[in-house]
Amino acid sequence: MRKPIIYADNAATTKLDKAAYEAMQLFLQEEYANASQPYSFARSAKAALRDARLAIAECINADPSEIYFTSGGTESDNWAIKGSMFAYGDHRCMLTSAIEHHAVLNSCAAVEKMGYTVVYLPVENDGIVFPDTLKQYITNQTKLVSVMLANNEIGSIQPIKELCCIAHEHGAVFHTDAVQAVGHIPVDVSDLGVDMLSASAHKFGGPKGVGFLYIKKGTTISPYLNGGSQEMKMRAGTENIAGIVGMAAALSKRCSSIEHSTNHLFALTERFKSRIAAAGVDYVLNGSTNHLPGHISISFKNVTGEQLLHRLDLMGIIVSTGAACDSVSTEISHVLQAIYVPSEYIKGTIRLSFSTDNTIEEVDQIVASLVRILKC
Ligand code: PLP
Repeated sequence: MRKPIIYADNAATTKLDKAAYEAMQLFLQEEYANASQPYSFARSAKAALRDARLAIAECINADPSEIYFTSGGTESDNWAIKGSMFAYGDHRCMLTSAIEHHAVLNSCAAVEKMGYTVVYLPVENDGIVFPDTLKQYITNQTKLVSVMLANNEIGSIQPIKELCCIAHEHGAVFHTDAVQAVGHIPVDVSDLGVDMLSASAHKFGGPKGVGFLYIKKGTTISPYLNGGSQEMKMRAGTENIAGIVGMAAALSKRCSSIEHSTNHLFALTERFKSRIAAAGVDYVLNGSTNHLPGHISISFKNVTGEQLLHRLDLMGIIVSTGAACDSVSTEISHVLQAIYVPSEYIKGTIRLSFSTDNTIEEVDQIVASLVRILKC
């Protein structure tokens, strides 16, 4: 048996929700038919797909026909960017922000290699893309703007509605990577006005390896995977029915309890902030005041994030140095550089991301352990 841990890295991934786990069982062991088959045994799988699409659409106020299942956030981001840029057969450019996840940034790099121009928008010191900045860079040659809804390292929430309006005024389509936002804050695609939105199940209590891309009806985008006629002939491949069912169950549960979870997560982050402020250690908090519930990015002097991560790990406390995919890289995060975290603090950054499973007592234990490490 593994030793008990305090898990505070929910932005990297979450525990599979019990309701999701239970909903998945049937489709792993009993109703395992391929949903594309015409026989009666496939009916249950087909119905499950339809119901999951409906449930997910309801959670983000979309039409079910606008939900396309994918293998997760990375695929959704790749599809939105490459699928839009390659669809038009022209060489108009795209804009994105300097603090996107690598699923977006490396998709942009791939697009650049194909001869397209990508412009990276600078952000304010709190990680926000200021609408006037977008106005400054956008032209009628811009065909796509991609700005994330909430940042995975610092939690800042972008003014997507305003950014989206500016994009549309210039005839560009708008994509948002909402992988850290869906299931954590209310997301309404029609209110935001976005044309495409990426989400990933394992960030909101669903299983790993499944996600979706919302594509507004009428958006020009090319298919992502060629093959069979699954996903309205846009993303071929036998569907991961159990994963999709688990994702829908997890998201429905999250969406029905967002207010309650937000209150709990807010109490945890306030407790952390007040305890660390009273501890007499030198630190800066990163990100915007408008940020994800339960998300803290904090930088300390005279220590590295890696040292803190490993010392806390030995004490049974799991935190991150930033983006999950950056854990093997010792380079300073592009996000922290873009928001100009002071040089004497930048290397000493860790990210805490709580879930409703975390308690006030755990927060106190995290702060006490951090202070012990920092003061010794
Ligand atoms: N986008 C953001 C903002 C993320 O935080 C992540 C995962 O960390 C991804 C995309 C990639 O999602 P997935 O792990 O489902 O591929």
